[in-house]
Amino acid sequence: MDEQARVVVITGASSGIGEATAQRLGRQGDAVVLVARREGRLREVARRVEADGGHALVAAADVTEEGALADVARRAVGRFGRVDGWVNNAGVSLFGRVEEAPLRAWRRVIEVNLFGYLHGARAVLPIFRAQGQGVLVNVASIASKLPQPYTSAYVASKHAVRALSMSLRQELALDGADGIHVVTVMPASIDTPLFRHAANYTGRAIRPMTPMYPASDVADVIAQVLVKPRREVLVGSVARLYLAEAAVAPELAEQRIAEAVDREHLARERAPETEGNLFEAVEDEELV
Ligand code: NDP
Repeated sequence: MDEQARVVVITGASSGIGEATAQRLGRQGDAVVLVARREGRLREVARRVEADGGHALVAAADVTEEGALADVARRAVGRFGRVDGWVNNAGVSLFGRVEEAPLRAWRRVIEVNLFGYLHGARAVLPIFRAQGQGVLVNVASIASKLPQPYTSAYVASKHAVRALSMSLRQELALDGADGIHVVTVMPASIDTPLFRHAANYTGRAIRPMTPMYPASDVADVIAQVLVKPRREVLVGSVARLYLAEAAVAPELAEQRIAEAVDREHLARERAPETEGNLFEAVEDEELV
């Protein structure tokens, strides 16, 4: 492996932003450890990373299992000798009104999107501390700073991920762990299968919000912050606009976002209830 190459663990690497990040890092010769539930998909991503000149280790795991992520961290060090970056990215979504979404589905979103990230942090921080350096990237969302109706569990989880990052940064600073960085990446709407994978109890079909940005935009930002860490980064120019509006006129922004989501994110056409990929991974071919 090249001296300059980085060793980066990516959760949610079987699809969307995680897959794009693996490919982006692979093209620059880095070593990636690919984590998700669908081992077959991870093997395909690994083949492409290696064809592009990178190195890949497939480590199938469910991020809700703390021990499984601790094992991933051990395997990464066993294979590549160190971990330079860990990208917490595996995520799920749930559409359903606060009063109607099944509690077990709501809980599962928090288990994956928040506890999954906490498990990742707790798996890699001892390694970063021993090395004296490392970058933890938490892929949150514009929904870490803004509200959105019909997706309360998702929005709550993403606000919590941002808060987790902030508290962790403070603890590391108090410890004088100057070489360890925590970065929150907050994308706007990204063109990935996330919305097709989502659980849906609204009875209405889900459509992505526009404007949509390519997953490669997020992958580029992640590649940059792994080298030059920042506290928080937005992805998608529209994100800045939304936040400016919310800062100046929060009440109006809350109302405008609610109406836009109701009009655009959920179609009028009927859609059957689905658990999506919350509890079990779903092959994309199985989705309508
Ligand atoms: P995808 O649905 O394409 O990817 C989600 C990934 O998470 C898949 O690789 C999936 O793999 C994995 N995953 C889901 N549950 C688990 C689990 N329990 N254990 C391990 N892996 C799991 O969506 P995106 O690429 O869009 O999402 C990536 C991140 O980006 C998420 O955190 C999302 O919230 C965030 N984001 C996305 C935006 C968008 O508009 N798309 C906007 C803002 C943020 P598998 O099923 O094989 O386990």
